[in-house]
Amino acid sequence: MVSPFELAGYQIQPGERKVLQLALAQLYTQSPLTVPLEVVHGKRPGPVLLICAAIHGDELNGIEIVNQVLAKVNPARLKGTLIAVPVVNVFGFIHKSRYLPDRRDLNRCFPGSDKGSLASRVAHFFVDKVVNKSTHIIDLHTGAIHRSNLPQIRAQLDCVVTHAMALSFGAPVILDASIRDGSLRAVAESRNIPVLLYEAGEALRFDAAAIKAGTRGVLNVMRTLGMLNASSAKARMLPMIAKSSTWVRANQDGLLHLSAHLGDRVAKGQQLGTITAPLGAEPSPVLALKSGIIIGSLTMPLVNEGDAVCHIATFDAVKEAEHSVEQFVDELAITPQTF
Ligand SMILES: [Zn+2]
Repeated sequence: MVSPFELAGYQIQPGERKVLQLALAQLYTQSPLTVPLEVVHGKRPGPVLLICAAIHGDELNGIEIVNQVLAKVNPARLKGTLIAVPVVNVFGFIHKSRYLPDRRDLNRCFPGSDKGSLASRVAHFFVDKVVNKSTHIIDLHTGAIHRSNLPQIRAQLDCVVTHAMALSFGAPVILDASIRDGSLRAVAESRNIPVLLYEAGEALRFDAAAIKAGTRGVLNVMRTLGMLNASSAKARMLPMIAKSSTWVRANQDGLLHLSAHLGDRVAKGQQLGTITAPLGAEPSPVLALKSGIIIGSLTMPLVNEGDAVCHIATFDAVKEAEHSVEQFVDELAITPQTF
């Protein structure tokens, strides 16, 4: 028999779903600020999966992914527990900002402290109340403002469970990425909680392909963890694991004209676009430094020398990686330009 699930003093019965508002802090006006979350507690035992979004308050795709996943999960059939937190950084979300009012990046402040700055307190609150209740985590992100990402998973693949989760998610590219200090990923790994980070689309925008792929990916991981029944055996795309990645930077100030797009396979030395000046100085070519797949790209044409323009993932088998991207695009019935 499954016990009630307890979170922050609330109790959720087996087979129940409950929306909670966790008291986080106060505004200057002394109005209370709460973090909304929903717990779906299955009737049968299983993992406790946390899906969270908007740790960077301007990253919206994950919020919609959380919403769509919740609509598909039935507590009567769920094994285990789903904790869904659509907006972690409510301060940033309200202000359409990546940051907190103290200008800190929440994803550099974990695990935080209850005596620290505002960001540090928010981080501590989230770890204490939510992360510590979880056995697995999927953290949903997008590119920063004016930057878009091809749907991709970032994870440390030396953990067998993380590896299985990453493969089953079904994004075309997996970056076996090292951990940043102060990130949610770092704190989860330090507690031996398998964690995936999904990156797709751009801040302050909804991206239909990124949302569709993310919703499908979370549900795939839930099947892999045994929380949902396996779907009818449809051959799934094999994601390609990138060896490393590199940024191509603007080699002069000016206006960027990109001819290469997210998901394109590019060869070392290939021209990705040009940078021009308002009064028509000689265009300067932007060249790929390595062969690979474009997984991140600037979406705004104004650049200063040194600005990151394109993010290229490199692979042992770049042709196969291109095939994974093509298959992914076909499966989602979208065109690459909609990324
Ligand atoms: Zn982010």
